[in-house]
Amino acid sequence: MAEFYNIDPSGDVTIILRDADAPFAEAPALFGQPPDKPRTGPKKKKKKIIRKPANPPVIEAGLATVAEDAASVDGSKEPGIDLPLPEPPVIRLRVSSRHLIVASCYFRTALSGRWKETASTAEDGSLCIEAHGWDPQALKILMLVIHGCNRQVPRLLSLELLAKIAVLVDYYKCAEAVEVFAELWLRALKGTGQAPITEVVNRDLVLWLFVSWIFGDDDVFTAVARTALWQTQEPLPTLGLPIPDTVIATIDRKRLELIDGIITGLHELLATFRDGPESCSFECSSMLLGALTKEMRAKGLDPKPGPLPSSSSVVATIDVVRSIHSPQWISVGEYVWNTDEIGLIPHSCCLQTLIQSKVLDGLDERMGGLTLDEFGGRRSLWHPRVLWG
Ligand SMILES: [Zn+2]
Repeated sequence: MAEFYNIDPSGDVTIILRDADAPFAEAPALFGQPPDKPRTGPKKKKKKIIRKPANPPVIEAGLATVAEDAASVDGSKEPGIDLPLPEPPVIRLRVSSRHLIVASCYFRTALSGRWKETASTAEDGSLCIEAHGWDPQALKILMLVIHGCNRQVPRLLSLELLAKIAVLVDYYKCAEAVEVFAELWLRALKGTGQAPITEVVNRDLVLWLFVSWIFGDDDVFTAVARTALWQTQEPLPTLGLPIPDTVIATIDRKRLELIDGIITGLHELLATFRDGPESCSFECSSMLLGALTKEMRAKGLDPKPGPLPSSSSVVATIDVVRSIHSPQWISVGEYVWNTDEIGLIPHSCCLQTLIQSKVLDGLDERMGGLTLDEFGGRRSLWHPRVLWG
């Protein structure tokens, strides 16, 4: 039996949702996570992750009802013939075109002009709009928000459900309509610790990146993008979510630039020991030059690898650099007796200390902001701000 959500009892539009609860943001195996939480309903068909037709919406009146009724009527089984698999349940939402048009650019187009003229109506006279693959709960919540049914809107959502709503907001172009609730949901989600902003690259990290992009949360976006930049070894997979290519490409470009900057910094340090003025002594720079040359050769950093290493993370590169062995020696003529312990005090210059200060310090500053503003600001792109007064 078809589910029915009566969002607006006097509404003049019926949204017909088919293939509900399609697979969502399936993660590659490298993430080591199941693609999604267990589903509550039976699944008969596998569909694409997110169905996003290139053309404007097709409004089909009454077809859903007819098709479903026909399926139930034609259920008589002929001897020796297998019955076809039953059609997955269809979900209907009674909504108002006035609310949809105000809230959504998508519906504004769909419910006006030639689209409206070519649309047919359902038995009850309402205009039918087809939707495919969405999560029914996410669609219902979005419609409640758009119709101002604030008391029925849940205040706390899971990251999963929030991401599913974000997909709808992106598709139906209704960010402003959900802006207030989005801030509430994000604040609640962060506050509960239910889905902490992960510091490892996994499926949750991609979901956080997506919801922070769609709902314009700068702090979350920057934190998550930074984690991706430092820890990925390749462009971050989008899991089929509509994350702009420029976001993924920028994160990956900065990753490569940071790795290149680290290796370049080591070579500059090498050149300083070899060619620069003695900051300490001839013996000191000679010792450090020899040690750094040997270590960089051993770790494949000299000669400089090129083109840029594409399958290494910033974190892994830093680990390699930090494993460079720092020699210890006692310079003739400057040794002193350690008065506390029996022995000689080694020379104070340390290769690792110099690498840290000359190469590794300030990497965050070199990385740049990775803020929403850097990408033009998500909200300002959708809804130019109106200045009053
Ligand atoms: Zn020295």
